[in-house]
Amino acid sequence: MSERRHLAPAIGSAAVVGLVGLAGLVGLAATGIACGSSTTDPHGPYPAFAFDLPRVVDKGGPRLAHADLVLFVDPNDPRKPAIEQFLLLLGASQTWSDTTAEYGVGPPGAITTLPMPTMPSSFATSDLEAAIAQSVHDLRFKNASAADGGVGADAASSTTMKHAETLYIALLPPTATVTNMPCAKLLGYHTSVLATPTDEVPLAIVEGICTAAQDALTADDLTLHYLSHEIFEAVTDPFPFSAPAWLAVDDAHAAWTSGLGGFSEIGDLCLERDVPSAGFPLVTVGTAGALVTFQSTWSNHRAAVGADPCGAIEGEPFFLPMPALTERAKLNGALTAPAVTIATGQTVIVDVHIASDRATSDLTFFVYDVASKVYQHAEELTFTADRVTVRNGDVIKLSVTRARPPRLPTLLNGSAFAVGLYDESGVQQVSYGFAAVP
Ligand SMILES: [Zn+2]
Repeated sequence: MSERRHLAPAIGSAAVVGLVGLAGLVGLAATGIACGSSTTDPHGPYPAFAFDLPRVVDKGGPRLAHADLVLFVDPNDPRKPAIEQFLLLLGASQTWSDTTAEYGVGPPGAITTLPMPTMPSSFATSDLEAAIAQSVHDLRFKNASAADGGVGADAASSTTMKHAETLYIALLPPTATVTNMPCAKLLGYHTSVLATPTDEVPLAIVEGICTAAQDALTADDLTLHYLSHEIFEAVTDPFPFSAPAWLAVDDAHAAWTSGLGGFSEIGDLCLERDVPSAGFPLVTVGTAGALVTFQSTWSNHRAAVGADPCGAIEGEPFFLPMPALTERAKLNGALTAPAVTIATGQTVIVDVHIASDRATSDLTFFVYDVASKVYQHAEELTFTADRVTVRNGDVIKLSVTRARPPRLPTLLNGSAFAVGLYDESGVQQVSYGFAAVP
């Protein structure tokens, strides 16, 4: 739900972490079948291994079935017309329905804008949340009783009414300095705030323009990507802390949550499913003269039928590396998940299964340690692979060595790692595994 800049490896040799070269490998020469043979395909059938994908789980909280969208934006923000047009296009698009219908969310209602509350030149996100809450209070709850359509209402007690009829969105102006939200680290998040002591409303906050566009995104791209990411997450999980709905993936795939920085809502899960030119998966919608881009989101339905769950590029092959983890380890309380157990100083070989849903060009393998790469902690796992160039049906022998005990903040008793592939055009797919300790 909280967007940090993720650390997808760059395309190229730097992406290959701790891999041996191809020289001296056994097995490659022996299986040196001419790829792309015109008569039979030596890499089929497809997929050679069933895709093992997580599913986002419904925790039961409210979702925003047909919410109005209210955008707080600086009236002088030069992007205001484009952002308004973007929201109208997005709300009316088939993509909105394709994205949200399976999560019980329909198209938005009215889409309106309001002036951003006046803020000092420098402030913290908590200050902005309080200012938005005050604005919503003045707008809707100043004279109101708790009778305007919230869910979870219980007038006889102090239970908070969770209002699922409006999503508030704050787009930070280009000039805003947010002390705890430097755009290189945090680009947006969504939460809920109390407009009165008993009226709770969903809120998404999105960074303005970063002074230096990163990942080859323009500043507007950046804004649009994170705006769509937060909106789709907020409508499917509007009260993530007090009444979570589509909050995170199933326990068996908890390593994905860890690998994505502790979050696995429907936007987070597609952050790593990117196209190389832009750094994030793009879907283009629009009418003549009005093209906009936004980030794709996770589909449980597509995952269930073995299609690319992020669906970013129609017609492209879907491919995935999967660590074959045969143990189940206790991670945190009652949570157990597939894992490989590795003591500090020990090396264990993990098979990584390579699958694609159709023929591909050569795919290049990479792997990284989540503790150091995502959380900037000391490196917990190091890797050596017996090959880096693969196709459907191949099995990589990945030697995993534990350098030190785990210390991830969101999971106990283990270390997550990421395995990834990219193709010749730079399309990248990643999945996650988990190394426990004895
Ligand atoms: Zn998110």
